[in-house]
Amino acid sequence: MPEIRAIWVPRWDITNPDACHTLISLAKEYDFNTLVVQVRGRGDALYKSAYEPRCEFLKDQPSDFDPLGVILEYARNAGIEIHAWLNANYTWDSDTPPVSPDHIVNKHPDWLMRTKENRVVMTGGEDVEGAYACPSNAEYREFLKNVYLDVAINYEVDGIHFDFIRYPSPRFCYCDRCLTLFKSEMENHISPDQYTELTNSIDRIAYPLAFPNQWDRFRRDQINKIVYAIYDAVKAVRPGMIVSASVFPDYLDAFSNRFQDWKSWIKDGKLDLIFPMAYSKSTDRFAELVQDAVASSCGVPVVAGIGSWQIPAESTVEKIKKAREIGTAGFCLFSYGVTEKGTKADYLKAVRYGVHSYPARFGE
Ligand SMILES: [Zn+2]
Repeated sequence: MPEIRAIWVPRWDITNPDACHTLISLAKEYDFNTLVVQVRGRGDALYKSAYEPRCEFLKDQPSDFDPLGVILEYARNAGIEIHAWLNANYTWDSDTPPVSPDHIVNKHPDWLMRTKENRVVMTGGEDVEGAYACPSNAEYREFLKNVYLDVAINYEVDGIHFDFIRYPSPRFCYCDRCLTLFKSEMENHISPDQYTELTNSIDRIAYPLAFPNQWDRFRRDQINKIVYAIYDAVKAVRPGMIVSASVFPDYLDAFSNRFQDWKSWIKDGKLDLIFPMAYSKSTDRFAELVQDAVASSCGVPVVAGIGSWQIPAESTVEKIKKAREIGTAGFCLFSYGVTEKGTKADYLKAVRYGVHSYPARFGE
């Protein structure tokens, strides 16, 4: 397999045809062979979706402008692989609701995650980025599966990429549905005395408080259900499609605080490629995180995520060299539009010429 030399491309960088064209030109010129392009940001679409409203960033564009379609057309000619990056649970990030009545926030407000105080959080804070949809809801999981399948079936993408496939923090989700489901799971495993005590409790989160480990496991299970269902569904229609995910690189943090059990996904064969977001400025720490992911990968190729937005190009180059030493399948820069300084072109050029020893020529 040729080295994967990738860039994550956020949605604000593909909002008009010229930007899509520039993206492909720069990637080709500076020898990147893979672009992970964000086409679902906040429960909306930068492609022709059968399920979700068009992203509001495209409001000034003609209605037939399809960023993913345009990018795929350019990319095919340039020999660049395109992975469609879809944010999973992260659904909105503002107190101003989406314009479209069809957006999850307007159409299914009951799908959103809630705090212990039974409140929805719409904007970012210390431990949350905004509103997330709650994965314990089978109707939501089915909806999300169809969103991913819609892209997999209708676009000739090389891969489908999960992001925000997790909870924001342990503060979520304490919606009534989660509490009811957890209670019914636990009822069969507790003593009559415990049952009486918990049933008489006036605390709505009595069960999570009584069984913290099982509560965490319950939350991990909900995320696993999404990953496994979408993986199987995508493979059923497109066996050759690569299913990948961006994950928190520190597994303990991912497992305990985001309920993102990526080692199980790998072990259970439900991921083809994994992108640990090893966004440390320190190359030593970066190497530690990438090493850990490689050690746990059961042969699944690891693409080292580099936090290029916060470091100069020389530091990105240093990390690419380190990733090669460790033996990753490649690297991915976060992100195309946000680099520490200079223009996109300057930064990408500096990276390209700083890592002369690309082992594979373009197109191999
Ligand atoms: Zn919930």
